Amino acid sequence: MSVIVYTENWDGRFKKSSFELVSYAAKLAEMLGTTLTAISIGNVDETELTKLGNYGVAKILKVKDGRLKGVDDQVYTDIIARVAKSENAKVILISHNISGKALASRLAVRLKAAAGSGLMELPYSIDPFIVRKKVFSGNAFASVELKTDVKILTLMPNSFELLETENRVTIQSFSVDFNDPETVVKDVYKQTGKILLTDAEIVVSGGRGMRSPDNWGVIEELAEVLEAAIACSRPVSDEGWRPHEEHTGQTGKIIAPNLYIAAGISGAIQHMAGVSSSKCIVAINNDADAPVFEYADYGIIGNAMKVLPAITLALKESGTR
Ligand SMILES: Cc1cc2nc3c(=O)[nH]c(=O)nc-3n(C[C@H](O)[C@H](O)[C@H](O)COP(=O)(O)OP(=O)(O)OC[C@H]3O[C@@H](n4cnc5c(N)ncnc54)[C@H](O)[C@@H]3O)c2cc1C
Repeated sequence: MSVIVYTENWDGRFKKSSFELVSYAAKLAEMLGTTLTAISIGNVDETELTKLGNYGVAKILKVKDGRLKGVDDQVYTDIIARVAKSENAKVILISHNISGKALASRLAVRLKAAAGSGLMELPYSIDPFIVRKKVFSGNAFASVELKTDVKILTLMPNSFELLETENRVTIQSFSVDFNDPETVVKDVYKQTGKILLTDAEIVVSGGRGMRSPDNWGVIEELAEVLEAAIACSRPVSDEGWRPHEEHTGQTGKIIAPNLYIAAGISGAIQHMAGVSSSKCIVAINNDADAPVFEYADYGIIGNAMKVLPAITLALKESGTR
């Protein structure tokens, strides 16, 4: 019996969220009295793989094959399912990101496993196996019992601390006979030069209260000083003021940065569904009764066009940024 964690890589590198997931998985393996095995698919060198051992992975199974040219959900599901069976895995952990969500649902069908998705904390209990997750756009928690023999859990990025341990990892090549990809990736267009919203530790976000796309300079300047990603509310992207990939909320990206600065955003429930797990929310709004202040850790009542440049200037003058 083992706990396995699928460690996604980006061009052969792991992100902080992979190490958070491993820390979570190692803790869960400890609770279950077993060890943690990681699956790595694709071209990751030994130095990078070894880093997983710093967070509690006992064994890494690396799957390398010339046919694995890009993430293909069907093929990756096939590989993870086969590894899980060979390892007699009882719990499979995956990041709650775009590809992780696709893999988890496919694996759940393939392995007839119950899935607990978007978790932010360790299971509430192990026997019975109960997890807690946010529901109704983050307005309530549900306790969900997973009754199947094999369980799949996805963990929200930025929701579990990194826990370093003594590194005793062993790395093994794992040869797996998987089905050929049915789809062919012809081109990949990568976003460059920007901090990805889903990875960002700090996010500066603007809403309709910014009044016009011409006013986004003050958001961009603060984001630059803070090394932050930029986000927006849905009407802003619907209006074409900002690209759709920046829209957060129920119908957009779900993020959990350490700091979320919401400027000119009313705090509608559908927006907050995507950002309410942020560790600290700072709201800037000229209406003292705006709902966003109910979610905010710090609130500034004022004109965002004046408040944002004042914060940028103060940060620059303080020399901390
Ligand atoms: C099914 C469904 C799904 C949805 N999904 C999403 C989603 O994923 N994400 C999302 O964001 N929305 C979503 N919405 C829309 C959501 O209900 C709100 O309409 C939207 O979030 C409002 O955006 P906003 O706060 O930018 O704009 P507004 O509601 O227009 O609020 C603007 C705010 O700016 C303030 N303001 C004005 N001028 C200034 C100034 N100079 N300085 C400071 N503050 C100022 C105002 O006081 C106001 O609070 C969804 C709606 C539905 C029905």
